[in-house]
Amino acid sequence: MPQMPLKQRSFLPLLALIIGLGFAISSLASYYMSRETIRQSIIGTELPLTADVITGEIQKDLVRLVQVSSAMAQEPFVLDWLDQGEPNAALITRYLQAIQERYNTSTAFFASQASQSYYTEGSTQALDPNDPADRWFYRFEQGGTPWEIVVDVTRLTMFINYRVTGPGGHFRGVAGVGLTLERVVDLIDTYQRRYQRNIYFVDADRRIAMSGERGGPNGQPRGTLLDEVTGLKDLNRQLPQLRPGAFAYESQGEQHFINIRYIPELDWFLMVDKQESGVMAPVRRALWINLLICVSVTGTVLSLVGFISRRYLQRIESMATHDALTGLLNRHGFGLLAEQAVAEARRHHSSLCVLILDLDHFKRFNDEHGHLAGDFVLRHFARTLARQVRQADLVSRWGGEEFVLMFKETDLATTAELAERIRAATEAELFEFEGSRLEVRVSIGAARLLEAGTLEALLRDADEALYRAKNSGRNRVCLATAAVSR
Ligand code: GH3
Ligand code: MG
Ligand code: MG
Repeated sequence: MPQMPLKQRSFLPLLALIIGLGFAISSLASYYMSRETIRQSIIGTELPLTADVITGEIQKDLVRLVQVSSAMAQEPFVLDWLDQGEPNAALITRYLQAIQERYNTSTAFFASQASQSYYTEGSTQALDPNDPADRWFYRFEQGGTPWEIVVDVTRLTMFINYRVTGPGGHFRGVAGVGLTLERVVDLIDTYQRRYQRNIYFVDADRRIAMSGERGGPNGQPRGTLLDEVTGLKDLNRQLPQLRPGAFAYESQGEQHFINIRYIPELDWFLMVDKQESGVMAPVRRALWINLLICVSVTGTVLSLVGFISRRYLQRIESMATHDALTGLLNRHGFGLLAEQAVAEARRHHSSLCVLILDLDHFKRFNDEHGHLAGDFVLRHFARTLARQVRQADLVSRWGGEEFVLMFKETDLATTAELAERIRAATEAELFEFEGSRLEVRVSIGAARLLEAGTLEALLRDADEALYRAKNSGRNRVCLATAAVSR
């Protein structure tokens, strides 16, 4: 019994390893494959597409305003009116009002160099070089750009200033429109919600130029330098100079994908940023479920295999040590246990006895009643034997119609009594087989283990006694001479 489970013990972990490894590898492979596919689709398709759409919408919204301002700066009516010395303020006011209504801007304005006046759709004010609020006009006059986009924090408005020039390019004033920041922020928030991305603009100086309500990267407000945003360390390292393209970077242990577009009309970079974790959550959940299934399937398979193999091993062991006809120990099974019993008896100096039983004239019995009747009697006799001994005693079919019994801690006299009881019971019993009542007799040899004796010697002594029983008329019990003489 002890060798088999040992093999089983090393086989089960190996099986667990094979199944578990197979499952784990396939789950992980599918996880990494889906992750790669998702990454590729984010970088290759999703982000560029979103950036395209947003750029398109920005173009439509912001660039349209630049175009409106440009048209205003070149409007013949405005230029004529300027040439005439700005005669009637109501004329320009009405014009600005029409622009503001048509393009749904927060304001439309014209600032004149000649009259130092600032006309809007509703009013006219004088420009004052000493007023900080008007400083933008003089700064822009000095600058060389044809237009600019300025965010006026005090008025919470984004202005598009477009240079109005006369013949020879001399500065005549500024035309343009304004959009409240609230509306720009709303616009960005709408995109962010619609596309589930973080969207912001960065100007040429790497400052966050515009963002949604919750700020730019890491919630940083407008005006923050990208290089000051801790979450963008990895990206900044990759992009010391901002340039359009698709990039991947790590921010606080999270994978990010970013698509950068340059919008020449604004001289801004549009940043469309996507965090991977949101997309990967279902894939990661699938991985955990897969691994869980793997563990439970492996566990189930293992316990099933363990259970079945244990059953088979037990059956094989039982087949190797038991007799098929009677269910008693066979010679091999008896040998294993009897050797132990002999060793134990010698160690403890306790008495150990055996009986060898041989059915009388069984050859003749078979001839007279048939082999099946012989088998029936053997089975029946075995059951009777087993009933007459204690649990600890060994009962075996030694072969053919011979049986060997071993009694632990039992002296020869008791053994002889037992043998006599078995003999008498056998003689008295009528084995009923297919309507006939069959009689059987048994001869028995008994022996006791001698001091320092072996199993072999013990059985030889019992066999010698049996031989005498047979020779002295059968159907009797004889004791080994070696045992009696001591
Ligand atoms: P004795 O022991 O009294 O000297 O005579 P015997 O006829 O019993 O002696 P022997 O050992 O020569 O014969 C044993 C017979 O037991 C031979 C065989 O026909 C029979 N036998 C052995 N095994 C089986 C078995 O499994 N089934 C049946 N039906 N008969 C068996
Ligand atoms: Mg025999
Ligand atoms: Mg016999």
